[in-house]
Amino acid sequence: MSPLLHDVRPALTMLREHERLFQQTVRDFAVAEIAPKSMAMDAAQAMDPGIVKQLFQLGLMGIEIPESQGGTGSDFFTSVLVVEELSRVDPAVAVLVDVQNTVVITALLHWADEDQRARYLPRLAQDTVGAYALSEAGSGSDAFALATRATPDGDGWVLNGRKLWITNAKEAGLFVVFATVSPADGYRGITAFLVEAGVEGLTVGKKEDKLGIRASSTCELVFDDVRVGPAQVLGDVGKGYKVAIETLNEGRIGIGAQMIGLAQGALDHTVKYVQEREQFGRAIGSFQGVQFELAEMATEIEAARLLVYNAARLRDAGEPFLAQAAMAKLYSSEVAQRVASRCIDLFGGYGLTRDYPVEKLYRDAKVGTIYEGTSNMQKQTIAKILLK
Ligand SMILES: Cc1cc2nc3c(=O)[nH]c(=O)nc-3n(C[C@H](O)[C@H](O)[C@H](O)COP(=O)(O)OP(=O)(O)OC[C@H]3O[C@@H](n4cnc5c(N)ncnc54)[C@H](O)[C@@H]3O)c2cc1C
Repeated sequence: MSPLLHDVRPALTMLREHERLFQQTVRDFAVAEIAPKSMAMDAAQAMDPGIVKQLFQLGLMGIEIPESQGGTGSDFFTSVLVVEELSRVDPAVAVLVDVQNTVVITALLHWADEDQRARYLPRLAQDTVGAYALSEAGSGSDAFALATRATPDGDGWVLNGRKLWITNAKEAGLFVVFATVSPADGYRGITAFLVEAGVEGLTVGKKEDKLGIRASSTCELVFDDVRVGPAQVLGDVGKGYKVAIETLNEGRIGIGAQMIGLAQGALDHTVKYVQEREQFGRAIGSFQGVQFELAEMATEIEAARLLVYNAARLRDAGEPFLAQAAMAKLYSSEVAQRVASRCIDLFGGYGLTRDYPVEKLYRDAKVGTIYEGTSNMQKQTIAKILLK
């Protein structure tokens, strides 16, 4: 062997043994357990509680939580693989797992003190769904214009305000909530709090009736004099903006994973269909025009996957990954929309019906360019790095 080969890094898509095992386990589970329920959950706009239970049992809800705290003790890249695999079958189930692992647990692993880790990580790994409450009606892309107030009260705070678009709100037992302790201080007043579901004054409000990922709950949260003690502050007072930014930098790699999984799922269904559907006396997949469509889609998905895997591997290696994460999310969400749309075209009229899963995947793809920072916000991040 050439001595140079010792320095060669494995290809991004070459999975380690434990990664391959995880991927296969989740693939089997998604096909056997989620696929049969997916369309019904979409129609009912409800997540099957049995599926959530199984996600916990499989160790998919605490992937990076150390084994000593009941988690799976794996890495961020594994979360990405899991989200990708689930998304091939149902991106709505995938986003529940994604928010839990790449946003909520990420925030706690980085910012929680020992006491908070001991109180919450075992629960998140075992049976508690987490949600992340930053957005409000008046603050989306301009997230730090948030208006939810945390008014000092004794040694704690009283929260008042409304959050909008909160994923997992219906299922969540724990919310990471961003509020300002001092509006006059701008972003330096923003503070992150850990708020348990069921506390007095917290109501899960209206659930959005959405185009896609309909089984994923997206709700308003209303805070009406919710009392939180000092032990519920995540990170330091006034440092919530850092918690938010750093968490979302990682989270958006997860959305990239959701989008490549979704695109792959749509392509898989289409490859099968074009070999079965006949026109002009032949399978439509035998026409070169159709084959070239498939080839272009596969190429775009592979390119997006490399961006997502690279961002995740950089993150696990402790290397800077900000631009790579933004590029991964930007590109993979656009690929997912393009691929899902082209797959519908190849299904012809049947593509518009709910008889085939591509119709749902097409609807599910749209949110990728919106949540965890719109495409414009990703471009802003990338350009800022280029121009600094
Ligand atoms: C299904 C779903 C689930 C969500 N889950 C969560 C969640 O769990 N937690 C949470 O906190 N939030 C969540 N969100 C909120 C999401 O992060 C926001 O919707 C997103 O950040 C965009 O904010 P906005 O909707 O207010 O749009 P706006 O910020 O009003 O943007 C509208 C348009 O203006 C553009 N725009 C705005 N500012 C600029 C600018 N400076 N330059 C160029 N273009 C600009 C945007 O790119 C976009 O195209 C979710 C949203 C959805 C739809």
